[in-house]
Formats: sequence, C-alpha cells, structure tokens
Amino acid sequence: MGGWRLIGNSRALNALASAVSSGSPARSYIFAGPERVGKAAAALRLAQALNCAADDPPCLSCQTCRRIGEAKFADVQTVTVEAATDGPAHKAISVEQIRDVEATVALAPYEGRKRVVVIDPAEEMSPGAQNAFLKTLEEPPPHVVFVLVTADADRLLETVRSRCRRIDFGLVAATEIEAGLIDRGTAAEQAAVLARLAAGRPGWALEAAARPALLAKRDEALDAARSLAEMDLAGRIDVAEKLSATFKRDRATVDETLAQWLSWWRDIVLTQSGAGDAIANLDRRDQITADAERYDRGQVTAFIQALRETRQHLRANVQSRIALDALMLRVPTMRQKRAPAANT
Ligand SMILES: [Zn+2]
Repeated sequence: MGGWRLIGNSRALNALASAVSSGSPARSYIFAGPERVGKAAAALRLAQALNCAADDPPCLSCQTCRRIGEAKFADVQTVTVEAATDGPAHKAISVEQIRDVEATVALAPYEGRKRVVVIDPAEEMSPGAQNAFLKTLEEPPPHVVFVLVTADADRLLETVRSRCRRIDFGLVAATEIEAGLIDRGTAAEQAAVLARLAAGRPGWALEAAARPALLAKRDEALDAARSLAEMDLAGRIDVAEKLSATFKRDRATVDETLAQWLSWWRDIVLTQSGAGDAIANLDRRDQITADAERYDRGQVTAFIQALRETRQHLRANVQSRIALDALMLRVPTMRQKRAPAANT
C-alpha cells in the first residue's frame, strides 16, 4: 500500500489506496471522524499518492512527496478558518475563501498531476460558503480532488454531503498507537503511557511524544477537573467565565480541556464499576481510586453526558458562556468526608 504509514484506520486508508491505484479516485471526499485520529494526515497522504510518480505511491521520499508534506507544493492547498488577528471574533470559512478556491481550481495543475484542496474543518464553512461551494462540487474540473475534513459531518448541508464519497475514521486502539509510537522512535515505556492517555487519538500521542508541553497542559486540565468538584458554585462560574474567554480566541484548547475532564470522570466511573484496569490516566491511579469513593456514580455519569453535550454545543456555535455555565451546574458534588474509623 505504498507509504501511507499512518497509525490506525487501515480500512479507510486501504479504501483510499485502492481508489488511487484504480486510477479513478472520487472527485470529492468527506473524511469524517473524531478529532486527532488522522483525517488531515490522510488527506495529505492522498494528495501525495495522487501526485507522486513512484511505482507504488506515495513513496514519501521524492521531492513531490516531501514538498506536499511540508505544505510547499503549489497544487495542494488547505483552506481553514483564518486566525483572528485581534479581538475575540471567531470566524467561519467565508464565501470569499470559497470563491478563491473556485478561481484556483479552474486552472490546470501547476507542477503536479492533480490539484488537491483540503477544507479543514469543513463544518466551519458558513452556510453561504457551503452553498457557494456546491456549484464547484457539482461540476468539479477533472484535475481536482476535494477533501472535506470534519469531526461533525452533520453540520454539512445534505446537498454537500450527497456529492462526496464519505470515508469514516474512528478512534484507534491503544495497542496500535503504542506500536506506531515505538515504530517512530519513542521509548517503549513512554509509548505505553502516551498510548493510553491518547484515548484513541494517535494525533495527540504523536504530538505529546514530540512536545512535552502538551503533557503539562494535560496535567493542568486534570488538576482542574479535580478541583472543580471541590469548589462552590461561585468558583465554578468563575472557571466558566475564564473558559468562555479562552474559547473566543482558542477553541481547540477549550475542547481539549473538556476532553481531559471527560477522560478523568470516565476513569472515575470505570473504577466505580470495578473496571479500574481500563482507566486511561494510569499515572493518576491513586487519585482516581480515592475520588471514586467520594462521588455518586449517578452524578458522575450525568456529568459525563453533560460534558459530551457541551462539546457538541460549542462546536455548533451556541453561546459559549451559556453552555459552560450550564455545565457547571452539573459538576458532581463531593460526599461528606467520612469520619475517621473508630479504631484509629
Ligand atoms: Zn513520492
């Protein structure tokens, strides 16, 4: 299968590889699945496979493959939400950006065989942008392949979805992530820990292996998950306010924080149900075991559900402050500390 060399999701990658080798890939794809499981990396691999001249593309070592990997290849472009340069406004992918894409794809490839346009995150196209995009999707030039990368395909218009071939990506088994990390030079012991912490997301594991700062952020988020439950409501509302302010500049950080909170409380429930072996945050087993005694399982389960809903709501652009305040009302409350045992 050439050098697709990604961690996990082999069924999706096989489907893409055989579409490339058949010589008739779809004109437009949707790569759908959770964050950080390899959708964007697969889109780049697809671009490499379509443009690499090796016998079994992508070879990952020719100039074409390397330049695509470094985002320096003229015929491969990623369209994304433009960073807000100042102020809090979160922008969508605009009609103007889609018009630029239209103008570019009308031109023959400049240096490769196919122009590949990746739109990521595709669900951030405004409805106007999606409608503008429809026209191009209906009659794409023959030298163009579109890849719409999304963690929330439901937010794409049905008319957009129906014109794309959908490839589903899923969470990846910890054993596969572990093997993939070792393969790339991570020490075995660290690979085992990171693979568990990654909660199915090889993208997170690879980044954590390369950037220890990510682990520090995770530690912070877990500490916050713990202390939140010990605060009074006023304290929690303060936390909501801070998160909401962060959200306006940096959505990914807030989503990652909520993902870490989710992993924390999931570990608590696993421990409460006697499945402590399956926890993700192995390095915090002692705290998790202690906290499992302190919270009511029904409340914890309800909060896990609330965290999931909040992440969805934030993605769907509901007002962040309202969603986060509502979340704070559902934080589990610690039971009264038990009196010391009589015989001590
Ligand atoms: Zn190549």
